[in-house]
Amino acid sequence: MMTTDSFVMPFSEGSADQKSLLGGKGANLAEMTRIGLPVPPGFIVTTDACRRYMAEGGSPAGLFDQVDAALADLEAQVGRKLGDPESPLLLSVRSGAVFSMPGMMDTVLNLGAMPSTADGLAKLGDEWFAQDATRRFLEMFGRVVLGVDAEGFDHNVEQANEAAGVASERDLTVEQLAEVVAKHRQTIADAGKELPEDPRDQLRLAIEAVFRSWNGDRAKAYRRIENIPDDLGTAVNVQMMVFGNLGDRSATGVAFTRDPATGEKVHYGDFLIGAQGEDVVAGTRAVEHIDTMGETFPHAKEELEETLDTLEQHYHDMCDVEFTIENDKLWMLQTRVGKRSAAAALRMAVEMVDEGLIDEVEALKRVTTKQLEAMLHPRFGPNAPEPITTGLAASPGAAVGKVVLTSQEAKERGNAGESVVLVRPETSPEDLEGMVASVGMLTARGGLVSHAAVVARGLGKPAVCGANELKIDAKAGTVTVNGTVIHADDIISIDGTTGQVVIGEVELEIPEDDPNVAKLLTYADKQRRLHVWANADTPEDARRALAAGAEGIGLCRTEHQFLGDRLPLIRQMILSKTEEEERAALEPLEAQQKEDFEAVLEVMDGKTVVIRLLDPPLHEFLPDPLELRLKEASEGLDADEQKLLEAAEFYHEHNPMLGVRGIRLGILRPNVYAAQVRAIIGAAVARKQAGGDPRPEIMLPLTATSQELAWGIKLIHDTAKQVIEESGVEVAYTTATMIETPRAALRARELAPQVDAFSFGTNDLTQLTFGFSRDDVEASYIPAALEQELLPVDPFRSLDPAGVGRLVEMAVTEGREVKPDLVTGICGEHGGDPDSIHLCHRVGMNHVSCSASRIEVARLAAAHAAMEVSGPGSTA
Ligand SMILES: [Mg+2]
Repeated sequence: MMTTDSFVMPFSEGSADQKSLLGGKGANLAEMTRIGLPVPPGFIVTTDACRRYMAEGGSPAGLFDQVDAALADLEAQVGRKLGDPESPLLLSVRSGAVFSMPGMMDTVLNLGAMPSTADGLAKLGDEWFAQDATRRFLEMFGRVVLGVDAEGFDHNVEQANEAAGVASERDLTVEQLAEVVAKHRQTIADAGKELPEDPRDQLRLAIEAVFRSWNGDRAKAYRRIENIPDDLGTAVNVQMMVFGNLGDRSATGVAFTRDPATGEKVHYGDFLIGAQGEDVVAGTRAVEHIDTMGETFPHAKEELEETLDTLEQHYHDMCDVEFTIENDKLWMLQTRVGKRSAAAALRMAVEMVDEGLIDEVEALKRVTTKQLEAMLHPRFGPNAPEPITTGLAASPGAAVGKVVLTSQEAKERGNAGESVVLVRPETSPEDLEGMVASVGMLTARGGLVSHAAVVARGLGKPAVCGANELKIDAKAGTVTVNGTVIHADDIISIDGTTGQVVIGEVELEIPEDDPNVAKLLTYADKQRRLHVWANADTPEDARRALAAGAEGIGLCRTEHQFLGDRLPLIRQMILSKTEEEERAALEPLEAQQKEDFEAVLEVMDGKTVVIRLLDPPLHEFLPDPLELRLKEASEGLDADEQKLLEAAEFYHEHNPMLGVRGIRLGILRPNVYAAQVRAIIGAAVARKQAGGDPRPEIMLPLTATSQELAWGIKLIHDTAKQVIEESGVEVAYTTATMIETPRAALRARELAPQVDAFSFGTNDLTQLTFGFSRDDVEASYIPAALEQELLPVDPFRSLDPAGVGRLVEMAVTEGREVKPDLVTGICGEHGGDPDSIHLCHRVGMNHVSCSASRIEVARLAAAHAAMEVSGPGSTA
């Protein structure tokens, strides 16, 4: 059958925008040719041909006629011929897929170097070069194309080296090399393979071998990891060989248009004199920096510098290149947009905007949220030892300190200036002060939304949680990990960005305050539509959040204000038997909360501060009844302790997560909520009197029914009205409900008219939608389910788009149907997760709220969402 399909394209006819047809390497070789850079001539066998080869189980009709024609043109252009004994042309045959798959597919170099062409090759270099090229060709062709075991070739070379008493084949004589060549041919024959003598046949077989390597095990595994589709196929680049190994007037090297580690605008690279490309990669000989290249190759150096500038101006990005100098003549063998460190990505993006090379939108596309994250926190340096265990990366940053096993000790020693890492089975609100005084937290239990994780992120401190290999014995003062015993006071290092735990001191990389971060984020702020608010409980949290760019507070958790030296006050309230006792106990709490709110409202003057009324079950403020029972049995309890024990047992719940908390607690203890509302409105009044612009929003947690919400809203309005009337100061406030039960999402139409705002508490909403108790599943079931692909993502890390996300979208949409100006936001920790932010953008939320340490990343992610740049590993 006749075919008019075009399977071959010379470099001189292609361009960079034809990557899917020509592969990445081929398209860039064509582009470099097109803009006049010194590229050894050649042609590309297209991915179409590869796809047809795979579909038909053999090369498509017409392919090799086209290859022969392209080869004839190439021979005419360079004045040498493949297989010509007088003036032989040697070819490189290299794979080149659409997406770079470094080292995954096959290559044949020096094709055309045969004993029959040795004399002609010797004229190009010398006799040694001719024999060496033939040796290299037979090894590669034998292994890659004919499938001969590499061991046989290695053995031949080793034997020759031994017999000659030299360390390397580079020291063999011409005659000795010729013997190796003869042995290699015998090895191929012994393996039952036939080596075609005609280089044209070799070329055909080499092209087909590259096609087949697309489906090699290595390549397939790589594509699975990198999410590259299996049906793209690879192109094959057939190119005139140039030689960096012709002696001291030749060299080979790699270079970058800017420093790929720092991003500095200087050329960067290495080269080796008298070597071929694989010698540079193998790292067996010491390379020289291109700065010194001018001493040996002044002309080539100048041309390389110009070429690097041309490439960067042309691609508007940092490029890397492979080059060869053959007898002082520079040749470009490859270019592509270069890989770079996080620091370099950021610096280059910002500087290229300043240079007018790219615009701000393009700069934003070039920095991933992961790269930004890496720039913001300390992390383990490159020489960190193997971790002893790895837990969940709960709060970013790294820390080094002495192991301390109780919060009390952490508080004392930390406040005294020691660097301590608090190591606990898990933490509770009572541990807060110890956590504040520590440089980092390590827990054996609990997931990404466990108390330790949430508090650590709020504090901006590193935490590794759920490291379930830790066996902590606080009494004995030891932590055992897989048989290794760590003692209290031993130094450990934790990296909350990776979850790694290392015994001893790890050298940390501390990010400097990088002005490029601020600059990139101003670009992001212009692009994003989502506002970024903070979860912040204290004036210090609020200040940190403001500095990171927070535009409001989306969640101020009042319960954290009940801890520390105020714990006795709230316990007094819990223990009160009569309404009078309760009111008396609430009075000082109310006064203190008013001060707290005033301080937060002052920091956030003119910005919304969403204050959530008391949420956790009361037993969280009480001691563990088991411990009290033990103490009762051993040394007895005093009267106060006896009361606490009774209360702790009274408030004990079988499943506190689903028990009396949130608005349910408010309904059972209405005076508590009323006191909190008085404190909030009272604080606003005081701020107003001081000339401020307070904007409190009062939020009810865990609502499930519209009647519950109506009850809560009435309490808020009645109480606020009273405070406002008493003060004679007119203050404005707004109201919100959290949407964190599936029922609330389902009844959004009834809830929306009652409030100004919905705030999605996606931690609880995820728990309740899946029926997961997060503390029980996050370190056990979820990793197993992820591994068996029963869950697409960890729903506590990244909002589950198909289930929880659907509830969220429905509640936003239906809430706005009945109340078009309804403000919607998310205040679960998902608010700082880039993929979840994409979802929030897509469903049309007004804002995301997250801990201060995640605000910068959220700003970039919100910009990416608005620009429809999917985050890395995006599932939204
Ligand atoms: Mg909640």
